Amino acid sequence: MQLWKKNVREVEPYVPGEQPLDTKVIKLNTNENPYPPSPLVLKAAEELARKGADQLRKYPDPGAKKLIQTLSAYHGVWPENVFVGVGSDDVLSIAFLTFFNSDKKILFPDVTYSFYPVWANVYDIPFKKVRTDEDFRIHAEDYKVPNGGIVIPNPNAPTGISLKPGDIEEIVRSNPASVVIIDEAYIDFGGETALELTREYDNLLVVRTFSKSRSLAGLRVGYAIGNEALIDAMNSVKFSINSYTMNVPSIHMGCASVNDKEYFSKCIRQIKDTRDYTVENLERLKFKVLPSDANFVFATHIRYKAEDIFKALKERKIFVRYFKQPRIDNYLRITIGTDEEMRKFFKALRDILHGFDISF
Ligand code: PMP
Repeated sequence: MQLWKKNVREVEPYVPGEQPLDTKVIKLNTNENPYPPSPLVLKAAEELARKGADQLRKYPDPGAKKLIQTLSAYHGVWPENVFVGVGSDDVLSIAFLTFFNSDKKILFPDVTYSFYPVWANVYDIPFKKVRTDEDFRIHAEDYKVPNGGIVIPNPNAPTGISLKPGDIEEIVRSNPASVVIIDEAYIDFGGETALELTREYDNLLVVRTFSKSRSLAGLRVGYAIGNEALIDAMNSVKFSINSYTMNVPSIHMGCASVNDKEYFSKCIRQIKDTRDYTVENLERLKFKVLPSDANFVFATHIRYKAEDIFKALKERKIFVRYFKQPRIDNYLRITIGTDEEMRKFFKALRDILHGFDISF
């Protein structure tokens, strides 16, 4: 008998998208950027490799000041308004632990990032899922009820749909006793940022990541911007768990990425163009595609089951994401790849749909 088992914290973990070791797979399943990071990042990595031995011997700067200063200059805020973490998952997790500490339920949309209920459960935070409308849209008035905090991604995931301009401010203004977290993981691909509002509202935290628009999912860098009191509170919690979250390469290479604005804009433009091409071709193949402001699209076929298409694509070594969850279990989330990857994707998809047609 394992008597210790009754004391174990039981949680149902988040399941990330598959990361296959097979490099021949066309990976359109985890919203990674298909382009390499800025050449300045690679140069920073080389520089680190050349003179890195001494830097790696020592602990990193626990305050990651260089990265925080670079981000504060980039966004035109004070360093005191910036928090950095190991990907935005780390930042969000610390934010949940710091700000969602009342008996009231926190609110997030019913169709959204599936990590939110997992953090709520592991930290014993009560929560309520707020239903999105029949088109999966989020409405500000649904968030004007008593709550212990609010978290919403803009654009939302996995739908890609942005909030209406003005809605975030309405939510933040109507909830002065709650911290409102806006998860802007995909904001560089479309939608309206809430960053400016952090100057005016002390209950708004905006969370960003280097994983999508900066092609650095493997580096694990995320950050939050908000009022100094919010950032102070997050730092107190973070320094009560782990002082050295940001490693030396993340700080060094992260700064290099922020400093290459031109490359960043070029990549975003390219992904948006490929998104237009993807939507057009999916619609031609009789998919209904939700209006996406992100680097992925969420689509359902008018006739064939998403799960069948998902499996057939997987057999052809093309990975997309399928969620067996209420309301969205007939949708596929398809990350925007390179033009060549998308051409291969459509070739496979046409073959698959044609095969389904014959078998009907
Ligand atoms: N927020 C949303 C909405 C996401 O889709 C993701 C990616 N899974 C994240 C946050 C976390 O990304 P990362 O930890 O790589 O910054």
